[in-house]
Amino acid sequence: MHVSTRIQSSEITVQLCKENEKNPKTDAGSLLFGHTFTDHMLRIDWNSKTGWNKPQITPLRPLTLHPAAKVFHYALELFEGMKAYRGFDNKIRLFRPDLNMKRMLSSAERLSLPLFDAEQLLECMKKLIKIDVDWIPEAKHNASLYIRPTLIGVEPTLGVTSSNDAILYVILSPVGAYFKTGIKPVKLIADPKNVRAWPGGSGNRKLGSNYAPTIAIQKENEKLGYQQIIWLFGDDHQLTEVGAMNLFVFLINENGEKELVTPPLDDGIILPGVTRISLLELARQWKEFKVSERKITMKEVKKALQEKRLLEIFGSGTACSVCPVGVIHFQNEDLIIPTMEHKEPLNIRFLNELSAIQYGKKSHPWAVEIC
Ligand SMILES: *Cc1c(COP(=O)(O)O)cnc(C)c1O
Repeated sequence: MHVSTRIQSSEITVQLCKENEKNPKTDAGSLLFGHTFTDHMLRIDWNSKTGWNKPQITPLRPLTLHPAAKVFHYALELFEGMKAYRGFDNKIRLFRPDLNMKRMLSSAERLSLPLFDAEQLLECMKKLIKIDVDWIPEAKHNASLYIRPTLIGVEPTLGVTSSNDAILYVILSPVGAYFKTGIKPVKLIADPKNVRAWPGGSGNRKLGSNYAPTIAIQKENEKLGYQQIIWLFGDDHQLTEVGAMNLFVFLINENGEKELVTPPLDDGIILPGVTRISLLELARQWKEFKVSERKITMKEVKKALQEKRLLEIFGSGTACSVCPVGVIHFQNEDLIIPTMEHKEPLNIRFLNELSAIQYGKKSHPWAVEIC
């Protein structure tokens, strides 16, 4: 078998499902996030001696792995989350996929998993998406095709060392609108005892191991009636992220200026979101208010709220685009955040701007047309 140290999209092999093996498509309105998958997957195997094998598109099927595979023991796993959108013109577009590929490489580096040629992987992914293109829901449902590239270390040995075998695969999942019944601000808990990431850790990479320890905390809070967690950090209670989203605070600062604040990337505790950087870039182009990547603490948020200078808090991520925050529970108190209480909230403007680009209503270099 021919192998290469590079992923070669031109050597891709394609094995299609038989007509009777295809899964029935679900109506976009009733899709639950990540429950439904398309008929095919992309898989590319890697070995330290032989490099990347030929990319394969096959019917979606289980992986067969040795029980000693390192992924099962030391969480040698990373992933990406991106979307393909069916535009109003019926064209299919990706949103800044180069940034997802760049982040995937940064995650691979952290786990000592193999690096790859991002453009070649993207070419293979485009082929997969074109094969399953009928699965991409119509724009009118505000729905899309969620794309989950995954890389795992599968060498069947128990040493805590880098893996000589890896599998890169991509699966596709049609998803409906994030807010099924209109946009509703979320209720959050900010509890300093829960820490998601820390300087020198891996919070700035999309590793499965960052998420497993958050699930029990999330479940506890749901029981109390809060949908997500605001992750605080440090003795000064810095706000870092919301659930698996980046966090933005829009306020009038102590100098009386309108300011959009999101925590900075420099100490490695923030995931560098594609949506995050896009909102920052849009706001910087608009030049209508100050835009800052800086630390922001609960003390500053509370003071701004008391002095009626707090305008909005929202999360940003591929799943929801922009997600308004309505309540933050902190130190036995529900802080009511007036995110949706203003005329023309900034978070809605961002949402509309992104969706115009993603669904092709507005031509923009961030939208990459694939077919
Ligand atoms: C994926 C993710 C985000 C959002 O990133 P996008 O590229 O905008 O989807 C933010 N925070 C965390 C912890 C994430 O895992």
